[in-house]
Amino acid sequence: MTSPPNARQKTPYDGLVTQGTVTLVELDLCLLEAQSTGQAIEFVLTSHYELNSDQIGASLSAYFGAPYLAFNSTLARSELLHGQLKREFVEAQGWLPLYESPSGLRVMCLDPEAVRGLRMVPQAFTRIKKFNYAVTTQREFQQTLNQLYGVSAHGGSINKLLADLDGIQSHERDESLLASAASDNELVKFVNKVIIDAYHQKASDIHIEPMPGKLKTGIRLRVDGTLQNFIEVPAQFRQAMVTRLKIMCDLDIAERRKPQDGKIQFKKYGPLDIELRVATIPSTGGVEDVVMRILPSGEPIALDKLNLSTLNMQRTLATIERPYGLFYVCGPTGSGKTTTLHSILKHLNTTDRKIWTVEDPVEITQKGLRQVQINRKAGIDFAMIMRAFLRADPDIIMVGESRDRETVALGVEASLTGHLVFSTLHTNSAPESVTRLLDMGMDPFNFADALLGILAQRLAKKLCVCKVAYTPDSQELASFVAEYSDELRNTPAWQLDAPGEAQKLIAHWQQNFGEDGQLRFYHRTGCAQCQHTGYLGRIGLHELLVATDEIKQLIQTRARVADIFSTAVSSGMLTLKMDGMEKTLLGLTDLKMVRMVCIK
Ligand SMILES: [Zn+2]
Repeated sequence: MTSPPNARQKTPYDGLVTQGTVTLVELDLCLLEAQSTGQAIEFVLTSHYELNSDQIGASLSAYFGAPYLAFNSTLARSELLHGQLKREFVEAQGWLPLYESPSGLRVMCLDPEAVRGLRMVPQAFTRIKKFNYAVTTQREFQQTLNQLYGVSAHGGSINKLLADLDGIQSHERDESLLASAASDNELVKFVNKVIIDAYHQKASDIHIEPMPGKLKTGIRLRVDGTLQNFIEVPAQFRQAMVTRLKIMCDLDIAERRKPQDGKIQFKKYGPLDIELRVATIPSTGGVEDVVMRILPSGEPIALDKLNLSTLNMQRTLATIERPYGLFYVCGPTGSGKTTTLHSILKHLNTTDRKIWTVEDPVEITQKGLRQVQINRKAGIDFAMIMRAFLRADPDIIMVGESRDRETVALGVEASLTGHLVFSTLHTNSAPESVTRLLDMGMDPFNFADALLGILAQRLAKKLCVCKVAYTPDSQELASFVAEYSDELRNTPAWQLDAPGEAQKLIAHWQQNFGEDGQLRFYHRTGCAQCQHTGYLGRIGLHELLVATDEIKQLIQTRARVADIFSTAVSSGMLTLKMDGMEKTLLGLTDLKMVRMVCIK
């Protein structure tokens, strides 16, 4: 039976029905609700259904015939583009200029058809000839607006708010007066602003470091892995500020001699839906330090956005698409291991697979996964949850970290009984991880059977777009080749002395990374966007050890790390440093950063 001709009017959200995300009836009910309440349809939809921005974006893109543009946290304000446009104006008009590119000025719109039709943009930028309109969701439009113009609800600069603190009296010793100072409106605003600014500067951590006596309290932010000064606060406000933070995460404000930890759900206090993990630590001079980790926004990154090289991407896909086995991501704290695991899970997250995760804490959430947070105080640890998972019909299990023998053993057991198991390790290199796990007491035969692969990872600072490309001279190229090849020294794969080897390597790079067959190197420069450091954001460097039959045999015989390494590189594994060096040829990072994160 064919359906009758559709008299229903098309809407930008019809694509959600085509995708199978909501049904036509569900969509129509939301449209009605939006009409009757005057709310935007997008907000009605997201309040009833778990929709992500990509799904809504795809629908909008299909309707408007314009590309969908997601929120990009690395975009920066440009005085040239945004200085002349008032926030209220662009907000009301529903469009935002983002940046200039060879294909024209990129304009983010809620309704690209209307914006193009009104010809507002060319009138605002008469010097620009080409425009490139894209559509985005309401939520991401607002996020981008906040990023480029600051959060209006808490207007004013941090310095202005600091000056406003002047009226507050200091009450270091008196708890009740301290609590009242801590709830002072100006102080509350100031503390919120510190968190909001830190978030907008993409800081991962906020460090509050009081000094005794009359010395100022320093506040530093960690951005892209490096601490930088943010602001200094006069001594008389330090305890009120610390008390305010303790109140925000429900800590005992009278307890100043013991370390405490808690969590801030910031949406209860300010205009951002973020979570902060807080640790207070008493330090010398009777003061308390506070360190806050801004937890990631909670959405997984697509696997193809992880900067895996083409070869590593192919090998990773081939490995994780196996029905059962063990896969580890290894690296030090802060190397993005959990992010990578969630990208892998996002790739595997389909209706026909049951995926259990146990994490400490759950930082990224995904619809479709069943996620469990451990609670050591209550005796709920990784091993306990793992055992429960095995009784709960899993296809895939992700274990936040494998530090103890029992968790690793359960992982091996689960994979040998037909499950795909993912976890992280605190080891430096992929080959070293193998021996570390065997040293924990794993049976070499079982472990060799179970293992699919190990991905070692580091994060290196990414070159900002202000980088400058140049053609290296033969001397610079030769020393680059030598440094690259040195990674393989003492293995059969090291053949630099063989005639023509260096040329072969260069030809390979020219073909894969060159521009018109020419290799390019990049200088870091600096601009307003990267605060004149030349770096903006970070990228992953990878070393992927695939457990081939040869590698499995070596594991069974408890071979040395050096032998596993030799075999792996002979079959094409690139070390972290080699992967990083190849990424410098793409202008993604530079040698200085690669050397820095690949210290052995
Ligand atoms: Zn720059």
